[in-house]
Amino acid sequence: MRSVKAARLYAGRVGASPGGLSVLAPASSVRAGNVADVLRLLRTQGPLTRAQLVRAAGLAWPTVMTVVASLQEAGLVVEDGVQAGPGERGGRPGALLRFVPTVVTVLTARVPGGQLELAQVGADGTVLARWERVADAHDPAALLRAVLARARRTARTGVLGGVALSLPGFIDHRRGLVTFPAWGWDDVDVGAHLRERLKVPVTLLGPPAAAAVGEVAFRWPQELSETVLLFLGGGLSSAVITNGRLVRGSAGAVGELGHLLVNSGLVCRCGRTGCLETLTAGWALREQVSSLLGQPFDRATLADLEGLADPRVAEILDRAAVALGEALAWLLTMVNPSSVIVAKTSFADGSERFFERCSEVARLRAVGAAGEFSLLPGQPDAVLLGTIHAALEQLPTALRPPVLIAG
Ligand SMILES: [Zn+2]
Repeated sequence: MRSVKAARLYAGRVGASPGGLSVLAPASSVRAGNVADVLRLLRTQGPLTRAQLVRAAGLAWPTVMTVVASLQEAGLVVEDGVQAGPGERGGRPGALLRFVPTVVTVLTARVPGGQLELAQVGADGTVLARWERVADAHDPAALLRAVLARARRTARTGVLGGVALSLPGFIDHRRGLVTFPAWGWDDVDVGAHLRERLKVPVTLLGPPAAAAVGEVAFRWPQELSETVLLFLGGGLSSAVITNGRLVRGSAGAVGELGHLLVNSGLVCRCGRTGCLETLTAGWALREQVSSLLGQPFDRATLADLEGLADPRVAEILDRAAVALGEALAWLLTMVNPSSVIVAKTSFADGSERFFERCSEVARLRAVGAAGEFSLLPGQPDAVLLGTIHAALEQLPTALRPPVLIAG
């Protein structure tokens, strides 16, 4: 289903594309398979000669010649030197063919600290350019203008294959709507707005979902099948990968652990009373410690708070870890993951004690084998890596990485 959709999207814009990338979405499925095989070999084993391609692909010589010629015409493959030593049957050395990953690029966007950051990424996942602090994300119109402007400039120098954005808040990924009260965003139409103007696929992900995809795609591929990611920053959330796919839910509330009601009696940033965030989120812990010690801890990290070595602060942190552990136990029992990844956020970075305590509680509370999981540290830039993967998934089959984000 995805490949049909991608093929249609590509077919619709090929006329305007430098190099004519219709080669990546031919009408014939046999031809599409041959193109994908040749490109895969050049991407993973290249540079290769035509003769080496014929042997490795198990295809007929004329077929490989035709595919290579069309890829060269599109600029996706170039001749780059000759092979060392004699060629086939002692003849002349063959010309080496090299995949050019910069002809098709994708654009990613994320908003750490409320400032828009963009990256242009080649079809092989290499970051080609980055632009930081491009726009203030509190103004959705300015953010969309900045993304559009950069995408249009990117499309002028090659083919823009897709866009992926990591945005906080509730993301209705089917309708492309984003709601984030902290920025005053209420059903902001991000997806359709960009899709209609750029004519490319657009994927929206929350930072926890992007981090989960980034972690399993680039660092913990062995955890591909069943993984839960905890995202404790200013707020609290989570993401779930099960059966090798990110769970996306129906309308943007999936993984929102922070707003589960735990009857804390405290008012949450979302306006409700008793959310888990009021005990465990970064904003709540900073507020509680500030009020206890009578001085601001607005920028303190979890490790800073642990380092205060004040028994009253330790009690606040323990209560938070236990509350998160109890919520995690429910999640573990529903999903039964093999691992729990702790996202490397600026708030949680450097703390080990908190998550050890949290997982200790979760192991005790979870049912049966759900309590058996590995606790894994997250990596910096997981959100960026996840948006890169999300954008690359939108490329035609011949260039697409393994799919992690369903639908
Ligand atoms: Zn809440």
